[in-house]
Amino acid sequence: MFAFLTALLSITFPVTMTAEKPFSFKDTPGKLPREVVPTDYSIRIVPNIGTLTFSGKETVKLDVRNPVRRLVLNALELEITDASLDGEALPKSAIKIDSEKELLTIALPSESATGRIRRGELAVGEHTLALRFSGKINQQGQGLFYMHYQGLESGTQKIMLGTQFEATDARRFFPCWDEPAFRARFQLTAVVPENWLAVSNMPIETEKKIEGGKEVRFAATPPMSSYLNVFVAGELDLIESRSGPTQIRVITTKGKAELGSYALEVTAQILQYYNDYFGVPYPLPKLDQIALPGGFGGAMENWGGITYYESALLFDPKNSSAETKQIIYEVIAHEMAHMWFGDLVTMAWWDNLWLNEGFASWMGTKCTAHFNPQWEVWLRRSVPRDPTRRVGIAKEAAMEGDARSTTHPIQQSIATEAEANSAFDDITYKKGQSFLRMLESFLGEEVFRDGIRRYIAAHKYSNTTTADLWNALSETSKKPIGEIAAGWTEQPGFPVVKVKREADGKIQLTQERFTVNSKNAPPLKWKIPLTYSVVGEAPATLLMTGTIASLQNIAADRALKLNVNGAGNYRAEYDEPSWRLLLKALPNLGVEDRVNLLSDAWAFVQSGRAPVSLYFGLVEELPPSTEVAEHQQIINVLDFINRLLGTREREEFQPYARSLLRPTFETLGWEPKEGELPTVGNLRASLINALGDLSDPEIIAGCRERFEKYLANPASLAPDLRPPVLAVVGHYADEKTWSKLHDLGLKTASIEEKQNYYNALAETTDPQLVKKTLPIALTDELPTSRAIFLVSAVARDSGHPDMAWKFAAANMKTLLAKVDAAGANRYVPGLFTFFSDVSRADELKSYAKNNLPAASAPEVAKVVDEIQFRSEFKRRLAPQLKAWTGKNKLTTGTIGGVSNKGTSKSQNKSY
Ligand SMILES: [Zn+2]
Repeated sequence: MFAFLTALLSITFPVTMTAEKPFSFKDTPGKLPREVVPTDYSIRIVPNIGTLTFSGKETVKLDVRNPVRRLVLNALELEITDASLDGEALPKSAIKIDSEKELLTIALPSESATGRIRRGELAVGEHTLALRFSGKINQQGQGLFYMHYQGLESGTQKIMLGTQFEATDARRFFPCWDEPAFRARFQLTAVVPENWLAVSNMPIETEKKIEGGKEVRFAATPPMSSYLNVFVAGELDLIESRSGPTQIRVITTKGKAELGSYALEVTAQILQYYNDYFGVPYPLPKLDQIALPGGFGGAMENWGGITYYESALLFDPKNSSAETKQIIYEVIAHEMAHMWFGDLVTMAWWDNLWLNEGFASWMGTKCTAHFNPQWEVWLRRSVPRDPTRRVGIAKEAAMEGDARSTTHPIQQSIATEAEANSAFDDITYKKGQSFLRMLESFLGEEVFRDGIRRYIAAHKYSNTTTADLWNALSETSKKPIGEIAAGWTEQPGFPVVKVKREADGKIQLTQERFTVNSKNAPPLKWKIPLTYSVVGEAPATLLMTGTIASLQNIAADRALKLNVNGAGNYRAEYDEPSWRLLLKALPNLGVEDRVNLLSDAWAFVQSGRAPVSLYFGLVEELPPSTEVAEHQQIINVLDFINRLLGTREREEFQPYARSLLRPTFETLGWEPKEGELPTVGNLRASLINALGDLSDPEIIAGCRERFEKYLANPASLAPDLRPPVLAVVGHYADEKTWSKLHDLGLKTASIEEKQNYYNALAETTDPQLVKKTLPIALTDELPTSRAIFLVSAVARDSGHPDMAWKFAAANMKTLLAKVDAAGANRYVPGLFTFFSDVSRADELKSYAKNNLPAASAPEVAKVVDEIQFRSEFKRRLAPQLKAWTGKNKLTTGTIGGVSNKGTSKSQNKSY
């Protein structure tokens, strides 16, 4: 799953490590008894659009492995009308639904006419359960849901259906053994209107006209987990091609199929790459990429029928930005990696969700970087997982959360459905991805790939635990991978490695846990697969197993860089002589290493290990460049500071911040140049956005002028410039401009353009206009999954988080009705993220206590920690910034225990 809308989640865990065992069906956690295993489902669904309900029936072949007295499976918000076993009807009284546990229990009669039930026990062997049921079609993206969207002819309102089952919502569509280890074959039949196209995991087997529409029967799937089922239906178009034996289609709402051309091309390219990488070819006859115009916010790896939020799949060469194109590639690469990692081989239980998500994130990024090296994808998080956060570095996002007291290990115990839904967080996705990248760079690409091939071949059509993956990698690498990995996946946090130069070319390395705002964190130790290089020479590796290690024969006048290309999930803190040599060597470092130094330096400022002069001293020493990742890192820091400071301090800070960005913007200019790299377009857009927020008068005027021209002639504004120009215009909008933006948003049928306009509305700082923006969240103007996050965007971008929260609190019921399972625990805490006043932390705690479910506690704790951190950091940062930007006072602080004096550029140059 690719959840755009999730924020960080965190749970406090005991710091004990228990070695995990390879997959065994019997020992896998879960609620369902293991005696009865479904092997084949045949399901027939009849949706009723008028009443937003559906009726269904199913037969399930069961393999009864031990005699049982009752059947226990999952069902939620379904009404069971009939049940029969082996053809004999069961009384209504035998059926019991526990809606809290989400279980359906069917008690068996004491005897059956066939003799297969005796003394209340169902005999070992094959049996058939048949059920009739009905359920509802939801507004939010869980189970079967509907989407309203604008048809191509303006003013026409259309409706279509889709499903979202991960983690635990297949049970809202049909009664089933809804835990990932219960693999079975699923054969779906559905009745839809005659002019609709229906899509599921497998190709259509038969289609026939019946009263009230047509009945579509799909072929049965191979054995798979229930959460991977999919059903989509509506007035749809498609384009298709073929790659070897696989039919590839991009499916869209009517009239948009051509916008799927890019996705179709990308799918063929990626399919070939993965077929080769995994060593087992894609096993289904077809692969559909399905664009949904709403209802759900991300992408979902249903086997053979992947669903995407429309703007993550469709690319309009005339109107889409370069950023959109990159996001599309990356999301497709992520979801397609799941066709193997997740679908063909599935994690046994949600405590190993990282096996799916960490792996797909790593593999998707590796594949994207392979075909598009110029996009700098390892250095950038192209996909904004949360609309309230700007683009940043994937690894950094995970490390920021992982440094806090509220973090958790990658592998975490999961007991309830709500906990399973909460497991989709930055630690699972991004720390998982970072750890795999570190491991691959340590083992070498080929050894690592051979291990993955061995793992896939050994476990296809089955389930696994993390131990199975480490065993496969240990066998190919002949290294104890499980031992190295344990510290990274079974305990929270990560280390900082301190570098100290000693006499005779010896360098002492020391590791300790790195934390931010977490004073009493238990000290932990890691086996660190270190990489290092003497700048200009080939990199080397060292497995650091103890607290202290040393490097020999490093010349005293040569710069040493740890964590080559920033591929490792740890920080490096240099003593003064080492730092001085690195600053001198900056022009000889690649962009990966420069970004790594910037990220580490900023983290040390956040943690209080260094004063802000360490970071800005480094920024001022950087050689001129137009590499987007490097500037993005700096922009994110400036943006964070700008939002944190009070009005007066902000006014003092902004001219300095602008002076850091202006030279690069002047090199690039406003207009895209022919033949420039697509990343230059990304950089220009980011600079305009950032300079606009930093009150640059020329940028604001330039954006307004371009907006006026755009109103008369949309083609006058390059697609890359639209999001930043609209955002800046929105930020400083008066009522007339606000209304223009709103009208444009109402009119467009493009989900991508619509989002640009409403993002611009959320930027508005004028309180009177903020009052007009917020109620839009309650209307149908935006797709359900996006509407509620308009409030989050206002909290972040308008500078009025107080107004956003007040509005949300007053309308909570309506807002929460639009949130899906994955978002429910996070929505309220997310609105508090942008406060830096500790009294708000108390307000959140007391609101949560009285109004939120227990499952949201970890996310509440995380945001409380964030507010406390921001409050403390603001106090600490303000005087340091004043001194630095004033350039007339001395600040002192330490880097790795060594005094870092001097604030002016010339003084820093002497380092
Ligand atoms: Zn995923």
